[in-house]
Amino acid sequence: MCSKDMNNSIRYISDPTRLYDYMTEFSVHCPVCQGKAEVTVPSHFDYKNAKLKCNVCHFSQKATDLVRHKPSGKSKCHQCLEFLDLSILVGYKNIPTYINVTCNFCKTINKVKENWESYVEKYQDLGIIDPAFGLPLWYQDSVKGNNLWAYNVKHITEIKKYVQSTLRERTTDKYKMTMVEKLPDFIKLAKNRKEVLKVIDRMIQTL
Ligand SMILES: [Zn+2]
Ligand SMILES: [Zn+2]
Repeated sequence: MCSKDMNNSIRYISDPTRLYDYMTEFSVHCPVCQGKAEVTVPSHFDYKNAKLKCNVCHFSQKATDLVRHKPSGKSKCHQCLEFLDLSILVGYKNIPTYINVTCNFCKTINKVKENWESYVEKYQDLGIIDPAFGLPLWYQDSVKGNNLWAYNVKHITEIKKYVQSTLRERTTDKYKMTMVEKLPDFIKLAKNRKEVLKVIDRMIQTL
């Protein structure tokens, strides 16, 4: 490396963070107005107690509001002993005393009342979403056909700092790799720097 390059280089200096460190706040699209909303998780991975609050329309919701119940496992028809089809049932907000399920084979109506399981009915299961409500992340865009995303403003700002830098120290121990070191190659490649920064700036400006 020539000295001129050395003088123009920007060293990445930051406290090492893991992706995990960013996973208590998620900026998402509000399910009501599509504006910017925040999901906060009280402690790491406690998604069942997460809260959603929209900065635009002030809609708020708790993840516990999305808890639904459905009968788990298998239940047999008391008449013909064939399995009942429980997959068609929608989730119940409160556990009912029993539900009537008609047997597909003999048409007998069965009262099913056991083995309820609870789950969180997220807005979406697929896509680039937050883990608590399943809402699309606010910070996401595409760069040359790849998805660039971040959980929150702190996360995107750290990614930006890394992309801007031309001098990056590397951990050789893969178990100690930091969030920025684990970023996909299209973000880290020098030839994509300009384009990636343009997209990041666009995302940060849409506050
Ligand atoms: Zn809203
Ligand atoms: Zn039957």
